[in-house]
Amino acid sequence: MASVWQKEDRRILYPSLKKDLETEILVVGGGMAGVLCARKLQDAGKQVVLAEAERIGCGITARTTAVLTAQHDYLYQDMISRFGEETARAYLHGNLEAVKEFREMAKKIPCDFETVPSVQFTAEEPTRLKKEAQTVKQLGFPASFTEQLPLDIPARGAVVYPDMAQFHPLKFLVGAAEGLQIYEQSRVLDLDGTTAILEKGKIKAEKVIVATHFPFLDRRGLYFMKLYQNRSYVLALENVPRLDMTLAELEGQGLYFRSYGELLLMGGGDHRTGKQGGGLAYLRRLARQYFPGAKERYAWANQDCMSLDGLPYVGQYSPAWSGVYTATGFNAWGMTNSMVAAQLLRDLLLGKQNPLEQALRPDRTMLRKQLLINLGETAADFVIPTKKRCTHLGCALKWNPQEHSWDCPCHGSRFSESGKLLNDPAQKDADL
Ligand SMILES: Cc1cc2nc3c(=O)[nH]c(=O)nc-3n(C[C@H](O)[C@H](O)[C@H](O)COP(=O)(O)OP(=O)(O)OC[C@H]3O[C@@H](n4cnc5c(N)ncnc54)[C@H](O)[C@@H]3O)c2cc1C
Repeated sequence: MASVWQKEDRRILYPSLKKDLETEILVVGGGMAGVLCARKLQDAGKQVVLAEAERIGCGITARTTAVLTAQHDYLYQDMISRFGEETARAYLHGNLEAVKEFREMAKKIPCDFETVPSVQFTAEEPTRLKKEAQTVKQLGFPASFTEQLPLDIPARGAVVYPDMAQFHPLKFLVGAAEGLQIYEQSRVLDLDGTTAILEKGKIKAEKVIVATHFPFLDRRGLYFMKLYQNRSYVLALENVPRLDMTLAELEGQGLYFRSYGELLLMGGGDHRTGKQGGGLAYLRRLARQYFPGAKERYAWANQDCMSLDGLPYVGQYSPAWSGVYTATGFNAWGMTNSMVAAQLLRDLLLGKQNPLEQALRPDRTMLRKQLLINLGETAADFVIPTKKRCTHLGCALKWNPQEHSWDCPCHGSRFSESGKLLNDPAQKDADL
């Protein structure tokens, strides 16, 4: 199921690695996070190599909806109560700076960049949403509360962030990657310290950034306990009204919308990967209800890594692994957070301070309710007697009737009917 972004074939093809190399910094993974990390470090004067298992931008970034916003659900009021006002302010300003940085870069990269307000709404009693608007104002950003929505869908209130943006993620990624030393079709199989082992060579680096969406090396960092994946579905509809803002629903039907040219992208139907949920059937039903004359042009699904506490993990991969870093757990807000991660990792690797270093460090406390849910899922799944097992940690795979795939409810790896790897953290096909 290709997304609307994948309809244009990319011009640039990078070679695959066929010999040993040495570099200052190796970035593993060429999605939005990896490419921006490589870009920021190379622009800061570092020698950087990026190794991508398939083609840059072929992973989660290819199926995003590419909204650039610092408006991340109810995160700011939650963050203040969990981490304090200083952290919430640093996260907000980090994401606002990220939107500005995308805007600056887009001046040189044709990527259909548009400045639009970002709006999140609820069909329920909006007390919590009003509080979010107040919180964000208190943190120094002019968010406002409104009862007006441009679409005829149930809503009782909305919060508006002015001057956010939307763009074409793959056009941007290809432009941002220009001039980088990239190897495609070059999967990193393992790391021996800071030397990467690939099928046809080794890359010896002083520092390594693992930006593979779900950090795939399990022996350190406990990411298999800290992350789960959430699947979400998107329709691209024509013959619909054009939106001059991005919209996302909190609670209720969990819908989100943005325009791209003549198309309206409508997302939702979310569920934990490997579980049953709304999916495309649910989304299509709502599309017929709200946009009776609409015609479906594209339909796709995608998933993102969810952390234990709503904040990404960016920093040293594990305290016991010097020189290796990661950026993951973007909680469905991986566009601006990829930029935040790239700036934070650039600062860390250059020995500079960054206001988000402590808040996003991957070894922060794991004592969160979500940890028990993740462990419960894994324990319940692991004992299921089936031969269909994931090549990541051996969990039982569940059949996904909507997408005809075998999915892991524990960590979110996915395989086609014949066992071809579709989504990480697994790195190998399964024998199904
Ligand atoms: C439906 C949906 C809509 C979304 N919409 C938005 C949005 O509007 N705004 C927003 O901010 N966020 C959004 N997100 C989240 C955002 O798209 C992601 O967080 C982001 O694209 C993740 O980028 P990434 O670089 O971490 O991962 P990826 O793009 O998956 O990149 C990882 C790369 O690593 C490579 N790789 C894996 N293993 C190896 C290996 N061993 N060696 C070498 N390479 C390897 C993969 O091939 C892949 O190319 C959305 C998510 C979903 C699910």
